[in-house]
Amino acid sequence: MLINLTDVFSSEGKVVQMQVDLEMVTYENQHVTYTITDKTPISVTFSNTGNGKAHMEGHVKLTMILSCDRCLKDVIHEFDLSFTEELVSPEVSDDLSEDMEDGRDFMEGYSINIEDLISNEILINWPTKVLCSEVCKGICKQCGKDLNEGECGCDTFVPDPRMAVIKDIFNANKEV
Ligand SMILES: [Zn+2]
Ligand SMILES: [Zn+2]
Repeated sequence: MLINLTDVFSSEGKVVQMQVDLEMVTYENQHVTYTITDKTPISVTFSNTGNGKAHMEGHVKLTMILSCDRCLKDVIHEFDLSFTEELVSPEVSDDLSEDMEDGRDFMEGYSINIEDLISNEILINWPTKVLCSEVCKGICKQCGKDLNEGECGCDTFVPDPRMAVIKDIFNANKEV
């Protein structure tokens, strides 16, 4: 979705407020496609701050189905995104120094690509850890059973470290 900002850039002090619907229904992160199950309209305010620049402030909430890092079960995650961005009109963007480049990332002529901006916000706010529960036991590495549903009976015996040393010596001797 492109929002045309010709009107916003037309005069200094101009403030334009609007609600726009987010078009994306899925989100791809590291080759995995996640489904967006719910989303609010994006509420956004543009304020012309002069010299071909505009300050943007926005908010959107969206719900996505992620999967538990331990057991892979679906985990419903809500992204509550508040963002600001400094935008520049294409008329002045050529004269800008390097440090203003950020504000140009989402501009296409006189329009801002709001979908790209939100995609970027989702990535920045991606949870570092996704768990269905803090106490999730995960899945058995041997048989793949969900250990939250009970023990699987696999031999998960961890050898006594002292025994491991003896075993190493034994193996070392065997190699000779
Ligand atoms: Zn889990
Ligand atoms: Zn098992």
